[in-house]
Amino acid sequence: MAPLTNILTIDLEEYFHPTEVQRVLPPDRWASLPSRVEPQTDWILELLDRRSARATFFVLGWVAERCPSLVRRIAAAGHEIGCHSYAHQLVYDLTPEQFRRDTVRALEAIHSAIAGVARSPVRAYRAPSYSITSRSLWALEILGACGIRCDSSIYPIAHDRYGIPGFARHAHALQTPAGPILEVPIATAQLSHGAVAPVGGGAYLRLLPYRYTAAGIRRINSQDRQPACVYFHPWEIDPDHPRLAAGFASRLRTYTGLRGMKRKLERLVSDFRFSALESVYPYEKMNQTGVTTTAAAS
Ligand SMILES: [Zn+2]
Repeated sequence: MAPLTNILTIDLEEYFHPTEVQRVLPPDRWASLPSRVEPQTDWILELLDRRSARATFFVLGWVAERCPSLVRRIAAAGHEIGCHSYAHQLVYDLTPEQFRRDTVRALEAIHSAIAGVARSPVRAYRAPSYSITSRSLWALEILGACGIRCDSSIYPIAHDRYGIPGFARHAHALQTPAGPILEVPIATAQLSHGAVAPVGGGAYLRLLPYRYTAAGIRRINSQDRQPACVYFHPWEIDPDHPRLAAGFASRLRTYTGLRGMKRKLERLVSDFRFSALESVYPYEKMNQTGVTTTAAAS
């Protein structure tokens, strides 16, 4: 059986944007902090180029304003540009109107950065810290009204800050009053006793041995015959970035395993075939009933 193409996604943000860091460092301090996102992202672009892999980069609007040439470079390299909000605020902490304003501002900043370079407007969205949960599903209609056709913000696991346990584990169309949105959940593996384990990358790739993520992707590809959607952040390959998060659990989640992450990513893109969301799921062609959600096996 031909191997499936999996989905690689990168949330393009600085080391001071994660929710764990924002607890001690409010947004009005961001402008005074040195940027570190460019060299890390250039390393990622070089790796993807070497392996002929495409990815979806979910760009924070704030980063698009500060580093427009970086976002242009990503688009010029042929990767899909998605949206990761403007100010990295948790969706369930916002009112629907605040969320709409944040999304519109982010899309304006990103479109301004990629004007004349990207082949198509932004159609994919990922919420900060997977904060579309059962409390904030209203956000999907607002995304649809903003032109978003694919959302990858729902983690079908139980977690203290995000997740919808029991949510469908694979891509499917969700109907909203603004039209269908293709939801592509982060990769999880169904274990033999029925439990669902996260395998989508990020902290799990950093904190656990590489073979954990690799075995999870293989299980999804072979048993479910579905692509796995994997994510990470540029700051996760930067072992020297300032340690800003406070508290034992926050520091463990944010800073453990940074030094081994590049090697793990090298293995990941060598062991599996990856592409962008829009290549695996051609949601541009999605009709009003949300048909085209079949995974593209190639
Ligand atoms: Zn983020």
